Amino acid sequence: MKTYDYIIVGAGIAGCSVAHFLSKISNSVLLVDRNDVVASEASGAAGAFLSPLLGKPNSFKELVSTSLNFSTDFYKDNFPDDIINNGVLRIPKNQSDRQKFNTYEHDFDFEPKDDGFFFPIGSLINSSQVCLNLSTNVEKLFNFNLKMIKYDSNFWILNDSLKCNNLILCTGANTQFLPKYLAIRPVWGQRIVCKSSINLMHNFHKECSVSLSLKNTYDNDENKPYLISIGATHHRLVEKKESCQDNIEPTIASFVKCNNCDTGCIEDTKKLLLLGNDIVKLDDLEVIKTYAGARASSIDYFPIVGEIIDEAKTLEDFPYLKNGTHVQEDRFTRYKNLFVLNGVGGRGFVLAPYLASKLVDFIVNQQQLPSSIKVDRLFKKWVKK
Ligand SMILES: Cc1cc2nc3c(=O)[nH]c(=O)nc-3n(C[C@H](O)[C@H](O)[C@H](O)COP(=O)(O)OP(=O)(O)OC[C@H]3O[C@@H](n4cnc5c(N)ncnc54)[C@H](O)[C@@H]3O)c2cc1C
Repeated sequence: MKTYDYIIVGAGIAGCSVAHFLSKISNSVLLVDRNDVVASEASGAAGAFLSPLLGKPNSFKELVSTSLNFSTDFYKDNFPDDIINNGVLRIPKNQSDRQKFNTYEHDFDFEPKDDGFFFPIGSLINSSQVCLNLSTNVEKLFNFNLKMIKYDSNFWILNDSLKCNNLILCTGANTQFLPKYLAIRPVWGQRIVCKSSINLMHNFHKECSVSLSLKNTYDNDENKPYLISIGATHHRLVEKKESCQDNIEPTIASFVKCNNCDTGCIEDTKKLLLLGNDIVKLDDLEVIKTYAGARASSIDYFPIVGEIIDEAKTLEDFPYLKNGTHVQEDRFTRYKNLFVLNGVGGRGFVLAPYLASKLVDFIVNQQQLPSSIKVDRLFKKWVKK
């Protein structure tokens, strides 16, 4: 059985970012995915847009701002051809939104422009290409659908066919291998790409985002030479199922199927065209492609990072955790060398490179992870229920 120091499951932006940082310290890294290319699920559906989070100061906004600074520099330094840092115009939805804007503390420079506020930090990423480039120096195995993991003699064994010392789960909305306390709420979404005669100079965001697609010329049409990307819609899976004619079970596989049925796909396309037109006059759009995927959100919206806790063993050792008694986190029993990076929600391209660098530092150098992103907070909340 082939043995690796590190195996990463999931070749979306989370898994590819982890693979990138691990490849700098080990020659024995394998990235596996059930599909046949990188970025096949949420990461392929994403725009992908890097934009600041606006609002009152709080720890989530702080995390997003730190990640946005880190990731923008990271993409520019490593993959300059796959990022356009042309700024984003944030347009308030209504008058009360505009008034609120003036009360916010902004983490990034901006200037008033047209009917909104222009933030030069805003960028657009070529999502699939970035995932490909991140994993260039890493061995990959596609069409590998992880069905079973077990721990035996200090090794993690995957599907009885691969072996590793360290296993990192980056499986997005598929939570099959995560314990119950790391619950993920999938939020389905769609984005469309359209041909247009309009050339946009920067990105826009109001109720949705409008941007020039990174592959910004469409060779076959002289009248409409540009590609415009409009995204994205948001649906909880259950909501989507109800609006779908097919009576399908709410599993992850059904996202794609649901999107292909007439109801979901067309409704969302219409909605995006309306919202897009409310931002920029886009009369001549011709939809040429729709993308759909499931964003993986945690129950408190913060990402999920760290070494996974063995909930049964920890509760056996500390039953009084259920009553809220404090126990030092370093006394919890962990599944040895089993790690996770998930729950990046609707901001995977902003958060993942930063979180992956932190996770790899934790795995390799035992550097502490910030408590707001650690698995521990979710375990402690779950235990008290
Ligand atoms: C329409 C839409 C627009 C978006 N726009 C933006 C945006 O503008 N900016 C932004 O930052 N974010 C955006 N997002 C969010 C972003 O796409 C996600 O945050 C990000 O892609 C999540 O990455 P991930 O690697 O965690 O998950 P995924 O990309 O879903 O990757 C998980 C991978 O795990 C694999 N996998 C799962 N289970 C198994 C298994 N058992 N065996 C093997 N492989 C497995 C899957 O095949 C998949 O490739 C958008 C999302 C959507 C849906």
